[in-house]
Amino acid sequence: MVGYHKELSLAVDLVKHATKITEWFRSKKSLFFIKKDDSPVTLADFASQIFIISTIKKYFPEDQIIAEEESSVFINSDAENIIKRCYTSLNITFEENLKETLNYRGFRSKRQWTVDPIDGTKGFQKGLAYAIGMGFMVQAEPTICAIGVPNYKNTSLTIFSAEKNHGAKVSYGDQNFTKISVSNKNEIKKFRICHSLHYNEPWVLKFARSLGVSNFIPLDSMAKLCMVADGSSELYIKPMNMQRSFTWDFLPGELLVKEAGGMITDIRGNPIQYVNDRCKITAPGLIASNGIRHDELLSALKSNDILKNS
Ligand SMILES: [Mg+2]
Repeated sequence: MVGYHKELSLAVDLVKHATKITEWFRSKKSLFFIKKDDSPVTLADFASQIFIISTIKKYFPEDQIIAEEESSVFINSDAENIIKRCYTSLNITFEENLKETLNYRGFRSKRQWTVDPIDGTKGFQKGLAYAIGMGFMVQAEPTICAIGVPNYKNTSLTIFSAEKNHGAKVSYGDQNFTKISVSNKNEIKKFRICHSLHYNEPWVLKFARSLGVSNFIPLDSMAKLCMVADGSSELYIKPMNMQRSFTWDFLPGELLVKEAGGMITDIRGNPIQYVNDRCKITAPGLIASNGIRHDELLSALKSNDILKNS
């Protein structure tokens, strides 16, 4: 059997170091925000992605990279100087061209890395939760993941990781990795539901209330999937734009939840499929749970207007 130990330790290392970069930017008074479509993007997103891509390229030069940020226009000489200042202060040696590295995607390969340099930029901006998400798939099959979440449960940095068929793990602070598993709560009314703080839609909470759920956890980023995986929450429902759902957003959290013993499907019950940078789903929402009542939750969703109208 082929193991992916090297890829997993690289992914863990990358989120660990990339968090130092994003936290460096967060500690500055100005975070240098710029707008991309309707969503914010920061120099920290760019600095984190450039570092991650250059490192993957160094260790796995033949692999393909699927990464969120793509832009050269925003990186003017002032921005370059700030990114370089950040790297210097963190002792990161970097001699490549910043813009070229940001846009580098490697070669077409069955081995594909996914990079979300900051997931939950709004949370990042406001001093709340955000995550750095790394994924790796082989022939479109999620194979490893590492997710770094600063300030998770008052720990400076929590890293979640998973390898297909080998379970999910967590490391709080700099401690060793230990196995995690989903919660064994089976009474839906007692479920704790995570939902998006900034991108929620009313049907999600309405549906949860109709089940008698009353414990709501609003949070940004894929940290919500981490909470389902480590048993801090039993349910997460995410509204999705079927045309604009990207692999880097979901692959790491999906693998983590599954390896922790949970279930994750779209709200019609179908699995998520990854085709390069796109998530293919059959309904405008995703549901992750501890798995115990997943089928019942799907049945309850069947009569929801969101599915009738999609
Ligand atoms: Mg992002």
